[in-house]
Amino acid sequence: MKRVATMAFVVLACVSCGTAEPVASTAPEPMTPAPAPETPAPGSTTTAPSTPTPTPPPAFSAKVSDVTRDRLPYSWRPGCPVHYRDLRLVTLSYWGFDNKPHTGELVVRKTVTDDIVTVFKKLYGWRWPIYQMKLVDAYKADDFASIDANNTSAFNCRRATGSSSWSNHAYGEAIDINPLQNPYVTASGSTAHDNAKKYTERPMKGKGVINPGDKVVKAFAQVGWEWGGYWSGAKDYQHFSKGGG
Ligand SMILES: [Zn+2]
Repeated sequence: MKRVATMAFVVLACVSCGTAEPVASTAPEPMTPAPAPETPAPGSTTTAPSTPTPTPPPAFSAKVSDVTRDRLPYSWRPGCPVHYRDLRLVTLSYWGFDNKPHTGELVVRKTVTDDIVTVFKKLYGWRWPIYQMKLVDAYKADDFASIDANNTSAFNCRRATGSSSWSNHAYGEAIDINPLQNPYVTASGSTAHDNAKKYTERPMKGKGVINPGDKVVKAFAQVGWEWGGYWSGAKDYQHFSKGGG
């Protein structure tokens, strides 16, 4: 009797085991898809170390603010064609020659800040390199010194090169980009900057060089800014201005 009872218990136990099994096997089934997504995750985490190395750079940022008189100690003075209250300081991201993101400053007329932000957002997205971007006041508004330092800048209350009339820079509607790689070249093919002599030909390859019809020229053209590289006679490869000139 005892033996029978034991066997019965065993049978019952097995039955309960047997019934439990399908339940257990049904239960893990919905569980299986759940861990499944987790499995690729650790897998992708394993491959991740190679991905994070080129960490995505910070997103492009641009801030437009009023420019105070003390920011323009040399580049603005009474009698300039645009009052400094009608200029704006644009603080924006640019991609450097060192292949790293940087923050630069430009002063432009308040009416063209959208143009500038639109173009420089594209340049940053393309990782198109800019050597340096400081207000020309860092060079006491000396255009020659700023160019010699390969500085990208916009506003400067000065006369046009070789002219008695105001430059478009004096209106805050012009910008010079990588002036070393993109020199002002006279009709006879010379440049006033010794360090830029190897960059007087177009088209030419090189970091930060602007060429006819390239994406930089097109990006400016799309917001109505013309390139000085298209001038007849002297060419100003660094120069873009609203409406040309
Ligand atoms: Zn210029």
